[in-house]
Amino acid sequence: MDQFIRHVVILGGGSAGWLTAAVLAAEHDTASGSGLRITLIESPEVSTIGVGEGTWPTMRDTLRRIGVSETDFIRQCDAAFKQGSKFVNWREDLQGDYYHHPFVLPPGFLDTHLAAGWLAHSDVPFSMLTCFQSHLCEAGKSPKQFATPEWAAVANYSYHLDAAKLGAFLRTHCVEKLGVRHVSDHMIGINTHDNGDIASLQTRENGAIEGDLFVDCSGMRALLIGQHYGVEIESQKDVLFNDRAIAVQVPYVDPSVEIACQTISTAQEAGWIWDIGLQSRRGIGHVYSSTHTSDDDAEAALRRYIVETGGREDDIHTLPRITIKPGFRRGGWHRNCVAIGLASGFMEPLEASSLVMVELAAGMLADQMPSTRAAVDIVAKRYNDTFSYRWDRIVDFLKLHYVLSKRDGSAYWRDNRRPETIPERLRERMELWRHQPPSRYDLNRVEEVFPSASYQFILYGMGFKPELRPATRRMDDVARAEGYFRESAEMARRMLAALPGHREMLDHVNTRGMPRI
Ligand code: AMP
Repeated sequence: MDQFIRHVVILGGGSAGWLTAAVLAAEHDTASGSGLRITLIESPEVSTIGVGEGTWPTMRDTLRRIGVSETDFIRQCDAAFKQGSKFVNWREDLQGDYYHHPFVLPPGFLDTHLAAGWLAHSDVPFSMLTCFQSHLCEAGKSPKQFATPEWAAVANYSYHLDAAKLGAFLRTHCVEKLGVRHVSDHMIGINTHDNGDIASLQTRENGAIEGDLFVDCSGMRALLIGQHYGVEIESQKDVLFNDRAIAVQVPYVDPSVEIACQTISTAQEAGWIWDIGLQSRRGIGHVYSSTHTSDDDAEAALRRYIVETGGREDDIHTLPRITIKPGFRRGGWHRNCVAIGLASGFMEPLEASSLVMVELAAGMLADQMPSTRAAVDIVAKRYNDTFSYRWDRIVDFLKLHYVLSKRDGSAYWRDNRRPETIPERLRERMELWRHQPPSRYDLNRVEEVFPSASYQFILYGMGFKPELRPATRRMDDVARAEGYFRESAEMARRMLAALPGHREMLDHVNTRGMPRI
């Protein structure tokens, strides 16, 4: 007889655990009592890492789907709007070197080879010429007006948020509205069936908690997928060198200063520093390669950066060092256990790929939830194929940020350009991109992690100059591209006049809220 999947048990209550619980419960009628039962076990003895503060615009859809109010979310998670990333000194270690990766698709993106037109203006960064959103970021504008309803955008956006507050916010929603059972207890053992499936998780106070499907959200410890099943991490250290991070929370010295509405990422000798503006503070961290610098030098660089960007030396309380093992598990779904979040893999926090992978994993699990044990193995195969592909794409996309750099002052940047550190997949694509822009043919699966526009912003932002084809084609018509550049400039002019400042908008959300539709 078929064994049915009726009860999902999630181990771990960081952002990954609670987001997964919320997405599954909302999609599977947990609150009604007739849908899937969901239990989340979270140890009161182990704290969460909670450095994931940047998100991708998919987060808007994820939060809307689970039924929270955007106003409540922004108020309770110290959240601010994010419209993309600004990369400083990645190309060259020179004053004034920067480029953007905004979230809006440039006008004309699908209709023309914008970079072919950009060649005539290549003293201007690609994104500033092609995409009005870069101008909003530079001016510190909000991506929406006071009257724009919740979840709607004038310019596409995501959030910067306090990860610990997000966990608490989601927990309340999951328990009070979505019918998720929360067990605050420490897991001390794993009980298995004869076939090797997990039967139950043994807890200190609540005994054995049985389930049909188990989700491992226990973070880097990976208690189920790693420690119990021994599914190995495939290391990416030879491609992505960063394996260490230090993070600090820095208050605003002047509370009226504008809050950056983009992640600012500044290249260093042996890594880069992230700078994320929340409502009440900045979250700043240095991620670096321990092969190329010492912990003390990395900390000194972080302190220097904070003081240079308006922080006070006295406010810098350095958190413990985080060790990153860049890599992922190709078999993130093994038997009746699926790993989501850091338990499935982790790379440096460039481009906020960690939380977007949680959203994608929770989304696919909710969508493809097997109803019998026999279906579990079939879905697992698909899932592992999809997520291996996605991890590979993340590796390629992150590496793309490094390979075109002209920085020559340190071994870190030179090593990053060594051909043997560049995946063959990326090298092949770059060969094609000499004459054609990254397109949907390079990224042809449903729900790609990063769309082809993102690849264009990085590729041309880093100064890659496409070459002319031997024969002309309609797509490469420079006059058409010029028309789109004018359109983007006009949109920038209108939006700069119409949109409130970022802090002004956040103040408005806190005092008045956003209209709900
Ligand atoms: P993070 O390290 O932020 O990904 O979060 C790890 C999550 O796993 C936290 O919610 C922890 O409470 C949870 N966790 C880790 N070890 C155990 C354990 N032995 N029993 C129950 N929960 C655990």
